[in-house]
Amino acid sequence: MKKQTKIVNAGRSKKWTGNVVNPPVERASTVVFDSIKEMKHATANRGDQVLFYGRRGTSTSFAFSDAMTELEGGAGCALYPSGTAAITNAILSFVESGDHLLMVDTAYEPTRDFCHKVLTKLGIETTFYDPLIGEGIAELIQENTKVLFLESPGSITMEVQDVPTLARIAHEHGCIVMLDNTWASPINFQPFEHGVDISIQAATKYVVGHSDVMLGTATATATHWPQLRENSYLMGQCTSPDDLYLAMRGIRTLGVRLKQHQENALIVARYIDAREDVDVVLHPAFDSCPGHEYFERDFLGSNGLFSFVFKGGNQQALHAFLEGMKHFKMGYSWGGFESLVIGVNNVQGLRTATKWPYKAPLVRLHIGLEDVEDLIDDLEQAFVRFHQALI
Ligand SMILES: *Cc1c(COP(=O)(O)O)cnc(C)c1O
Repeated sequence: MKKQTKIVNAGRSKKWTGNVVNPPVERASTVVFDSIKEMKHATANRGDQVLFYGRRGTSTSFAFSDAMTELEGGAGCALYPSGTAAITNAILSFVESGDHLLMVDTAYEPTRDFCHKVLTKLGIETTFYDPLIGEGIAELIQENTKVLFLESPGSITMEVQDVPTLARIAHEHGCIVMLDNTWASPINFQPFEHGVDISIQAATKYVVGHSDVMLGTATATATHWPQLRENSYLMGQCTSPDDLYLAMRGIRTLGVRLKQHQENALIVARYIDAREDVDVVLHPAFDSCPGHEYFERDFLGSNGLFSFVFKGGNQQALHAFLEGMKHFKMGYSWGGFESLVIGVNNVQGLRTATKWPYKAPLVRLHIGLEDVEDLIDDLEQAFVRFHQALI
């Protein structure tokens, strides 16, 4: 089945939908049984998409898990109330006191914080590594290294990682490979074909796609699925059927939305790249982006999210750029239909294992589904404000 056909059909088995097109929003805490036999059957199979108790899911969550597994690959998908919960729970499922974790230096900030503030307390040590380390990762693997965690492209600075090489070396040393695959969404990078053991999505972003739901997923290989699933139950992770319904609806348009985000973002990125006052465009599809060759080799497409670095400037000019936009709203997160902007004056403050090579401020844009002419007008005026603030 090809990509777009898969997107239309994912998770829509008759078992969950009956005779209508979409699975119902099935709300439940208690599930009631007619006989001891039925109750025993549900209890014995409670890990296996059987109605048992609300926390373990209903047809809405079973359908959504199936959909994500069909799109990402792997043997099963655990659901969490946010992308961050998916990351922390996936890690906690496989580490114990005395273990060591390798975390990419360009990880999403709350992922870094979790290592510093929670794993440290549990006696689990983290080493941050350069996203472009490639084969050099072997030298950082210790006797007690349990997990190699990747995020590709990196948060804010967009470095694309050589996932197959990193995964191969990690496996040679018996480490589990986890990837934050949010930027690619479940359709633009196939994690399990590139050696990943557990793939994580902040479904909050493009899967939901409308900036109205928090949701996370972790999909695992057959080897790792039982332990991931069991830990998600033990930690009491569950998700609302209303939110899952919205996420499922989001999936149906994921392909066409991403195509449009990609097209719009490439036009805007080319406009920015052509400007004299911009030093570098950090968009994986541009060869100015570190790791661009791995994007070309491994990804099936891009999306609306990228960054750029000014040629000069300061914090005041950055603020002048950011304030007063008409279409780009200032806000964290991304992946909805609308355009967003954030600025970072001190990128080095987000990194410990790598040296950030630029002095000037950085801007990250999420290009939404508006008309690009309006977005470029908005940016044009922002650049004018930027320069006025420098006079
Ligand atoms: C947003 C994001 C997360 C966290 O997802 P939440 O649902 O906001 O907790 C994790 N990783 C990446 C790359 C993200 O962009």
